[in-house]
Amino acid sequence: VAGKQIGILALQGDVSLHAQALAKLGAETRSVKLPSDLKGLHGLIIPGGESTALLKLMKPVGMLDAIKDFAKAGNSIFGTCAGAILLAKDVTHPKQESLNLIDISIKRNGYGRQVDSFEAIGDMNQPLGKGKLPMTFIRAPRIIKIAPGVKILAEHEGEPVLVMQDNILTGTFHPELTDSLTSYEYWLNQI
Ligand code: GLN
Repeated sequence: VAGKQIGILALQGDVSLHAQALAKLGAETRSVKLPSDLKGLHGLIIPGGESTALLKLMKPVGMLDAIKDFAKAGNSIFGTCAGAILLAKDVTHPKQESLNLIDISIKRNGYGRQVDSFEAIGDMNQPLGKGKLPMTFIRAPRIIKIAPGVKILAEHEGEPVLVMQDNILTGTFHPELTDSLTSYEYWLNQI
């Protein structure tokens, strides 16, 4: 992990808590706002926030294509919540443009209004680990379809909430709001 250069997309949403978590694991982080900021990075975090707003900020500066190229070059991306929505192949409720870098379908605001934010204890699967994983969901999406090549690393009530395909990891919860570094640690070790 030491010496790995990680970028955090810093257009909107939670940036500093991700940076703190990664620093605890020995990674170096910097903010990414423009395509040129991706240079020299080995991994990128796309934080939660509002995916529609993120799209609006990313498009005019060419960030969508830049992130696609970054992934195609073999670099790794971890998208949480709105970040997962941006990385998914298909987005519903409503339909929305996305990067199509992981073969999942995701439904925005999938838990509805009544329980739009909650904390939970989910379950890890190998190779992430064994046992429980704390999760914080905020107006979270739900992964409603996954392709066969996508690994389910964690579940909440039997539903996939942390999934990985090749160099792309997506989680529907906010790991930076929990006291567990497990998801980050696993991701950094894959880079
Ligand atoms: N509901 C948001 C969206 O649809 C995601 C919320 C979040 O990232 N916490 O983009």
